[in-house]
Amino acid sequence: MRRRRGAAYHVTLDDLGVSMTTIQRLNESSVDDFVASLHGIYEHSPWIAAQAASARPFASPAALKLALQATVSGAGADAQLALLRAHPELAGKAAIAGELTAESRGEQAGSGLDRCSPDDYARLHDLNRQYNARFGFPFILAVKGPTGQGLTRQAIIETFARRLDNARGDELREALRQVHRIAEIRLNALLGVTPSLGATVIDWCETLGAISDSDTGLTCAYMTAAHQRTAAQIADWMRGAGMTAHIDAVGNVVGRYAAAQAGAKTLMTGSHYDTVRNGGKYDGRLGILLPVALVAGLHARGERLPYDLEVIGFAEEEGVRYQSTFLGSSAVAGSFDLALLGALDADGVLLRDALAHAGHDPAAIPAIARDPSTLLGFVEVHIEQGPVLLERGLPLGVVSAIAGSSRYLVELTGVASHAGTTPMDMRRDAAAAAAEIVLLVERRCAMQPSLVGTVGRLEVPGGSVNVVPGACRLSLDIRAADDLTRLAAVDDILAEVSAICVRRGIGEKLYKLLEIDAVACAPGLMERLGGALERAGLPRFDLPSGAGHDAMRMAQLGDVAMLFVRCGNGGISHNPLETMTADDADIAGQVLLDFFRTVC
Ligand SMILES: [Zn+2]
Repeated sequence: MRRRRGAAYHVTLDDLGVSMTTIQRLNESSVDDFVASLHGIYEHSPWIAAQAASARPFASPAALKLALQATVSGAGADAQLALLRAHPELAGKAAIAGELTAESRGEQAGSGLDRCSPDDYARLHDLNRQYNARFGFPFILAVKGPTGQGLTRQAIIETFARRLDNARGDELREALRQVHRIAEIRLNALLGVTPSLGATVIDWCETLGAISDSDTGLTCAYMTAAHQRTAAQIADWMRGAGMTAHIDAVGNVVGRYAAAQAGAKTLMTGSHYDTVRNGGKYDGRLGILLPVALVAGLHARGERLPYDLEVIGFAEEEGVRYQSTFLGSSAVAGSFDLALLGALDADGVLLRDALAHAGHDPAAIPAIARDPSTLLGFVEVHIEQGPVLLERGLPLGVVSAIAGSSRYLVELTGVASHAGTTPMDMRRDAAAAAAEIVLLVERRCAMQPSLVGTVGRLEVPGGSVNVVPGACRLSLDIRAADDLTRLAAVDDILAEVSAICVRRGIGEKLYKLLEIDAVACAPGLMERLGGALERAGLPRFDLPSGAGHDAMRMAQLGDVAMLFVRCGNGGISHNPLETMTADDADIAGQVLLDFFRTVC
């Protein structure tokens, strides 16, 4: 076992597969030697290494990467633009003239950009021209991709075309992130770092991502054939990692890595393996497969933890098939509503029958519930599904709380009248009132950082181009990490909605659809996660989760914590474009392993 008794480091550089001598040498060398060593990491821009040199010593490759990124972030708009313009076009003139840096040449060739068909070449040429004209710098993409294995030419062209539609500010930041990703891959090569744990997890997510209810895209709905195959595959990997594994009566895949001593308590971790329709490959699955990969490493080294570690792949979280969420985690938490067994899916299949058809005994579901006194807590790793970590340039964040939410449906009734003959001051326009409400929600929810408000449905039933809207229906979704903030905002918004309706002579009906309290993460577990982040060379950054997660249900059993992992492509999720890098998965694995070793 590599853990040093009482040492601050719970994950050693050895665990990271990093040659200590390389980081040490970089830390101890002269500024000139440091800059020379990092030559080519940032294209034609040695000033970045020169400025970052003063931030030495670096505890880890992650700390070095962040220092280089911070230098660029602090350098101002002109220097950033110059950095972007120092990059060659993809399959552009410099490539053809043989004028690329060695690094760029290798990367472009790795994606087959040196072997473009005439059609691909013409398409890239056209995209380069449009992109340059629109943004004033060349299109930059880390062509080695999220895994470092290389994107296909097709994927590169699709990304290129998609990013052409970005607003300039967004695209400038995306281009800089791609520069940092290119630097990360080049640094890995320099330092001899291979994010092999992260790459394994990404590979596994790819394998599961190919098991789908649909011919295209990833859909894995509760108790379908794809869902059962996914469960069987996860159980296989768990057994291969040295765990015992079974699939319980609600379809959860439960893997257990026993403590050295019998009778120890249990730490639980995991997430869900079902998906939304046409969803992403990492949503939920990351939080199952990352700990399984870590256990494989522990098992290979003969290292046991001082508690039983249980990794659960929750069968259902998204509510796609039966419109009811958290089926898997509520069973474990002991709050599964047995009345749901009578729910029907869109094809008229009872939930009870879907379970029986898959070989499960619905009567055994209540017995899944855990005894809280045997548990140390629950930690869930999840892709962030938003842009906060991405925009801050951080791979990981500690979740402070899972937001509570209030949802309402508002029906407004005005008077439908002739659009040509009704003077502006004599209208009772339901849609104009709704427009005021939309802006009210936006304005009120912008007042506090953890508060968000959305009008996601906005309809003029039976509306017509030449009729003043007599009715309007809209939804309100208000969320915050703490309940007082949310409830105060709801009170303000509902009072103001009434005032708007009175002023405009509009009738108002309000239906409350949902109210869920926020779940605070346990400060003690957050502290341990934060410590692990700092030991990995990352700053601790806390953020609330605006989305619901299995941890909300698991909080009914005791302490919970969550670790968020950066989501690429602008933070998009519940979408095939959801992406993350092997490096981020890898550092999440290091942090989770460190966390596991601090819990006792
Ligand atoms: Zn999820």
